[in-house]
Amino acid sequence: MSAARGIGRVVLVGAGPGDPELLTRRAERVLAEADAVVYDALAPEDLLELAPGAELYNVGKRGHEAPTRPQEEINALLVRLAREGKRVVRLKGGDPFVFGRGGEEASACAEAGVPFEVVPGVSSVIGALAYAGIPATDRRHSASFAVVSGHKDPTRVSRDTRWSALANAADTLVILMGMRNLETIVARLLEAGRSPEAPAAVVMNGTLPSQRVVEAPLGDLARRAREAGIAAPALVVVGDVVRLRRSLAWFERRPLFGLRVLVTRSREQSAELVRALRDAGAEPVVVPMIESVALPACGALDAALARLADYDALVFTSANAVRFFGERARERGVPPERFQGQVFCVGPRTAESARRAGFGAALVPVRRDAAGLAAEIREQLPPRGRRFLLPRAEAARELLAEQLRAAGACVDALPVYRTVPAEVDVPALRRRLVEGGLDALSFTSPSTVQSFVDHLDAEARRAASRCMVAAIGAVTARALTDAGLPPQVVAARAGARDLVEAMAERARGGG
Ligand code: SAH
Repeated sequence: MSAARGIGRVVLVGAGPGDPELLTRRAERVLAEADAVVYDALAPEDLLELAPGAELYNVGKRGHEAPTRPQEEINALLVRLAREGKRVVRLKGGDPFVFGRGGEEASACAEAGVPFEVVPGVSSVIGALAYAGIPATDRRHSASFAVVSGHKDPTRVSRDTRWSALANAADTLVILMGMRNLETIVARLLEAGRSPEAPAAVVMNGTLPSQRVVEAPLGDLARRAREAGIAAPALVVVGDVVRLRRSLAWFERRPLFGLRVLVTRSREQSAELVRALRDAGAEPVVVPMIESVALPACGALDAALARLADYDALVFTSANAVRFFGERARERGVPPERFQGQVFCVGPRTAESARRAGFGAALVPVRRDAAGLAAEIREQLPPRGRRFLLPRAEAARELLAEQLRAAGACVDALPVYRTVPAEVDVPALRRRLVEGGLDALSFTSPSTVQSFVDHLDAEARRAASRCMVAAIGAVTARALTDAGLPPQVVAARAGARDLVEAMAERARGGG
């Protein structure tokens, strides 16, 4: 998407129903290229991170609920931003042309002579039904589906004649924005001849870990939804297909479904854990307890960089080591190609970082964890008389360097970064803990444990000990026990996926 000179453009983008991964690739690209993003409450916040360079405008509409900005103002904002020459993304929940007033916004652009495009999205109609395990159509039960808006004005719905026609127009009926008038809507459908026994359900927060589904015969649906405290955003589905849910509700059967899990790892390092948690159905709550910072320039490191070509092997034990070593090398004008030896990495993630940093050609992938590294190196590159460079964390353990030295190598183990406690919004974290807003806590190093417990008073600690506490390995587990927060879950191997697998095992009642 290239901005026309002088005038920009507006792209109406469907953000999908909630799960941030249900975004189209085109949406991802226009977000990355956006100068401004105008979004509302139904657009998943995570997606804003895909537009790092953009000005953000929250126009705070919650679907039809309590609009905080008149539509005309939003239209005017879009036109003004585009006229300033900006590439504007109008990010809308679900699909922009399904009850999203995207049509009105497109018309406003057309009238103002502002170029616009539309990127369709996964509508909640499709997304929430899929994640609830309710096929919209099914050869055995339903040959058609209709999508209806529950009207915002409760007095008007009773006069709205469409209901009697719609009630029997399709086998499956999906009602959006219907929660406020659910009683009246159900009454209309029954009057029009739909059976009170018809299978029906409401799906709240569809596609999110907070998804909730209430199933009831149509005649009972409004009461049951009210009792369950269902609130917007939620949709209603009526029809025989709802029965299929019994065997097709795949999403809610994920092992950690609905659990809110604290992730204490540094932001740069938490991506894999966040993905693994989401895949298991959990809602990751990322509150980094630590962050990594480069150490001030150091003579020994610069000297090592100056004679990089003399080393036979480079050993990276973490992605951070790659990152900070790579940054320092760049600053000193030393290209990775200057290194002619072999690169050993612990684990696939570190190897991937090394590849990205330009060490791909020399890479010897090491699949095992740090413990087996020295043995593996001994096999592949006999260390006697060879020169090894180990860029690493300041407080790293000496074990590997000592083992290599014992095997006759000359080893330069040089600190390139340091882990420091991160700035934490302590009152917010405390509130979450005390109010029961977290179900599990995950820890990936003793430093995350230390920083976490340092922030807590006695009440918050008690709340923490009511959560499922999970450690990535034995060292972290010991730190937790020492801090008075013994873990119920200790991963057998030190990977994000292994940690989540161990939590899932525990949640299933094993482990
Ligand atoms: N353009 C949107 C709909 C906007 S109207 C789309 O295509 O999905 C807002 C209504 O959509 C809500 O009142 C609710 O009925 C429905 N909705 C949006 N997100 C939802 C979700 N995650 N789960 C269930 N219903 C949702």
